[in-house]
Amino acid sequence: MKCTVCSKTAEIALRSHNSAFCREHFLLFFKRRIEKAIKDFNMFSKEKRLLIAVSGGKDSLVVWQVLNEMGYNTTGYHINIGLGIYSEVSENISKAFAKRLNRPLYVDYFEKEVGVSLREAAKISKKPYCSVCGMVKRYLINRKGTKFDTLVTGHNLSDESATLFGNILHWNTGYMGRQFPVLEDIGSLSRKAKPLIYLTEREIAAYAFFKEIDYALLRCPNARTTTGSFYKNILLEIEEAMPATRMNFLKAYFLKIQEKFREDVKLSPCKKCGYLTSQDICSFCRLKEKIKEGKK
Ligand code: AMP
Ligand code: ZN
Ligand code: ZN
Repeated sequence: MKCTVCSKTAEIALRSHNSAFCREHFLLFFKRRIEKAIKDFNMFSKEKRLLIAVSGGKDSLVVWQVLNEMGYNTTGYHINIGLGIYSEVSENISKAFAKRLNRPLYVDYFEKEVGVSLREAAKISKKPYCSVCGMVKRYLINRKGTKFDTLVTGHNLSDESATLFGNILHWNTGYMGRQFPVLEDIGSLSRKAKPLIYLTEREIAAYAFFKEIDYALLRCPNARTTTGSFYKNILLEIEEAMPATRMNFLKAYFLKIQEKFREDVKLSPCKKCGYLTSQDICSFCRLKEKIKEGKK
């Protein structure tokens, strides 16, 4: 198999793009996809201060590396959720990567911010680990993000098409109204962007491999097969038979339909902290209240 651009031996075939690339041209293709996303959705410019939410996994490290190489002003932010070796490795990898890029990295700790460990927080709120963890991470990442011009996450085409698929199956139109590659800041919500929106997990893993990016391979010890990964696998199967399905699904949605759902978003400021929420008091403040009651 030959590279579509230069006819050298190809190292990766991308059926959804009807192309195959040598290493050099794959890296170029990858960068162009990110440039296109930034331009299509007017994500940010070189003058803006970007906060990159870094988990230690491949997506967030890769987006940090590419934006840094392109000359954007980047700072990393990692939340250690306090789950033993998994969290230690994730924090260390994030720190080592910040050093490699020679960029600053802030680290916050779940237990310090919430007052109890994730395990206790899940017990107190009677919710699954993953939902408490996700809620607290979103809250803290947003809070830090408000101190920067735009908050960048590693969400990619595989994630976003699976999220959209799930939201449509349940007609969660309120969520759909907030699912977009770039979200302007409103009230206490920071401005958010997803530059990997045109790239799949497989492409991101290939980029990390070619660039020798050492990312966390450990799976979260609490992770079970979530509905998200179930939807991801179904879409992968469809993609096998019909390449580019996910891209077309997402792109047509963003360009033609998403806007219609924006009025279904019902958010108002939390009475305690001002974070925009669909309830009177946001989930983070409610969790903290319950912890306080438990300690009395
Ligand atoms: P996930 O929902 O785990 O797929 O993560 C989506 C995005 O959220 C990642 O690409 C990161 O940008 C961000 N993120 C996830 N976990 C963390 C963390 N522990 N610290 C900082 N950012 C995170
Ligand atoms: Zn080539
Ligand atoms: Zn609140």
